[in-house]
Amino acid sequence: MEQVEVDLIWHNGELVAWEDAKVHVLTHGLHYGTGVFDSMRAYATTHGTAIFRNRDHLARLFKSAELYYMPIPFSLEQLRAATHELLAANQLHECYIRPIVFRGYGQMGLYPLDCPVEVSIAAWPWGAYLGEEGARHGIRAKVSSWRRIPHDSLIPHAKASGQYLNSVLAKVEASKAGYQEAILLDSRGFVCEGSGENVYAVSEGRILTPPQTASILDGINRKSLIQIARDRGYEVIERDLARAELYLADEVFLSGTAAELVPVREIDDHVIGAGEPGPITGELQRVFDDALHGRDPRYRDWLDLVEVPADRTDAVAGVLADPTAGVAEVPADRTAGVAEVPADRTAGVAGPAVR
Ligand code: PMP
Repeated sequence: MEQVEVDLIWHNGELVAWEDAKVHVLTHGLHYGTGVFDSMRAYATTHGTAIFRNRDHLARLFKSAELYYMPIPFSLEQLRAATHELLAANQLHECYIRPIVFRGYGQMGLYPLDCPVEVSIAAWPWGAYLGEEGARHGIRAKVSSWRRIPHDSLIPHAKASGQYLNSVLAKVEASKAGYQEAILLDSRGFVCEGSGENVYAVSEGRILTPPQTASILDGINRKSLIQIARDRGYEVIERDLARAELYLADEVFLSGTAAELVPVREIDDHVIGAGEPGPITGELQRVFDDALHGRDPRYRDWLDLVEVPADRTDAVAGVLADPTAGVAEVPADRTAGVAEVPADRTAGVAGPAVR
């Protein structure tokens, strides 16, 4: 699958052309993995375009950065405003958003604190990470031979670039073996999470999910689903799970920003439950989808509404008219692309114009 591109990326306080958002080859983060990132999604909701739990994602980004000694040279509210500016300038009504904070070009060597801290935010239309088919009918997963990074070697609670080599190994292994996703065990051998998702098992009507001490990333969607499930009267238990408890579960599902809520129908060739998404998974998926799209008033507070102009020409002109918006670097000929862009970016999600 090719990367979908849009016009502008926010980089260190300015909107720059997508193709100009570049770094030096001696960027510290490129060599030593000294970066932290997060991911959000914006949805076309009943209230307009909204980023799901934007402040919570940004708060996690700040915590990840602090854990790896990276002072972010912007406030949380500045980065939140930047996400809004970026979506408006690219006229994105539904998209994936990727902020990254990293140690830039300065001095090589493992001591990073003299390198500048750079911040970028990119956004682009991105459909279901594990496929529409997977979201509807469930995916096949494989327990990885790679264990999730232990909490006394790195910081699983931080979303740090270098740590994702662990997920990359698991993802490639699972994919080469013909599965859509990997499930990693922690260093003790208990169930941890997917390569980019938290994992849940439904057993006798209760929802089980690994605890913070099992080296998980504390997913924003995990928090949301635990709340939704409890609001609907389900018992949610955070406890260690043995590998075979997944095989024996009535239902298994995953959650993450890229994947959203995805049922798992097979693990290591063991059919889970009836081999199709179970009733509790289906119910949570429906309520979660309502929450994401603003259809459930109970979860309205999770939406960070963004003003995205309906017409792309207005978006670019509006931003250019505002000198504080920092788009002075956008070359004049970018406007040439305006006519070629579909009137509604959401159209790009179904069949993205890949450049
Ligand atoms: N675990 C890992 C390793 C992840 O990369 C992600 C995706 N961010 C998650 C869990 C789920 O987190 P969230 O629900 O915040 O996207």
